[in-house]
Amino acid sequence: MIHLLIGSNNTHKAEEMRAIVEAQGLAHLLMPSDVQGFPTDIPETGATLEENAYIKAVTIFQATGRICIADDTGLEVDALGGAPGVHTARYAGEHASYAENRTKMLAELRDVPPEQRTARFRTVICYHDHFRVCFAEGICEGHIAAKERGEAGFGYDAIFIPQGFDRTFAEMNADEKHRVSHRGQALKRFAEILHSYHTDELEKPLP
Ligand code: IMP
Repeated sequence: MIHLLIGSNNTHKAEEMRAIVEAQGLAHLLMPSDVQGFPTDIPETGATLEENAYIKAVTIFQATGRICIADDTGLEVDALGGAPGVHTARYAGEHASYAENRTKMLAELRDVPPEQRTARFRTVICYHDHFRVCFAEGICEGHIAAKERGEAGFGYDAIFIPQGFDRTFAEMNADEKHRVSHRGQALKRFAEILHSYHTDELEKPLP
């Protein structure tokens, strides 16, 4: 089994990725604190989730020399024309807190009726080893709640209700969320791709 570095400085996201990939049993996992030289601040300058995931994976691979995955996630709200999308982390401003982002979204959607509050989380995972780069995408359809509900999770979890449920992500336990979430779907697809590789060969650097 390869050693796979979970490439995120965001402890919530890193912990979710660790739990999901660990359950797949496809790799020995390394966290950022397990390796030397993990970059602390990678600017998300890409115009798309794919670009940002790629920038993160390449930067982490080059800094650590470790096989890694990095992700970028966006929340696309139909009533906002697909915003905030790639700007999801900075929706209420450059250094906005999760709570400020949620508050801004609920305010923007105050007059939008329930049937028009459709939205989706989209995650793109970028995997980088010594030979190749690959991408896997996961999408979770749902809608934006009228108000915050639940204590679990992070980010927009307290206002996002996945399709087929009447609870927000923040009212679910971690396993329930991972079964339907964008990150869970993307990592499921990634596991299929990794499974198709000859993983014994992957850790050998190029001559
Ligand atoms: P990032 O750019 O991939 O770090 O994620 C963008 C933003 O999306 C984060 O700052 C969170 O606010 C939000 N986000 C990402 N994943 C989730 C999730 O699983 N639940 C709720 N919010 C999330």
